[in-house]
Amino acid sequence: MEKRELICIGCPLGCMITVDMQDGKVVKVTGNTCTRGEKYAVKEVTCPTRIVTSSVRVSGGDIRVLSVKTREAVPKEKIFDCANALKTVKVAAPVRIGDIILKDAAGTGIPFVATKNVKSPSTL
Ligand code: SF4
Repeated sequence: MEKRELICIGCPLGCMITVDMQDGKVVKVTGNTCTRGEKYAVKEVTCPTRIVTSSVRVSGGDIRVLSVKTREAVPKEKIFDCANALKTVKVAAPVRIGDIILKDAAGTGIPFVATKNVKSPSTL
């Protein structure tokens, strides 16, 4: 029996959760105070995902760097591929929050979107 220890990130309480696994399958979750913690723990040990945040260069805007994030969480093993996919991306102002900056982050099918507005000189 394999045991995985996690700290739940669902709320500030930060419960210490133990997941018992057998042959890659969850058999028992303990230490969680609520069902959210159980769901988090099961997902974290079977299919962990993360929102990826990063930045891209901007041309012709009031700022030179734009913060971006994946619109949804991506598989944890794809985080570095997603970040690398942005290295050559440069966007032209204006940009609005939520605009798609990169359609498909490293083959995940999930886009990177802008998390800031960028004005161009004509819209300042
Ligand atoms: S298990 Fe529930 S109460 Fe505990 S940290 Fe997670 S969300 Fe908060």
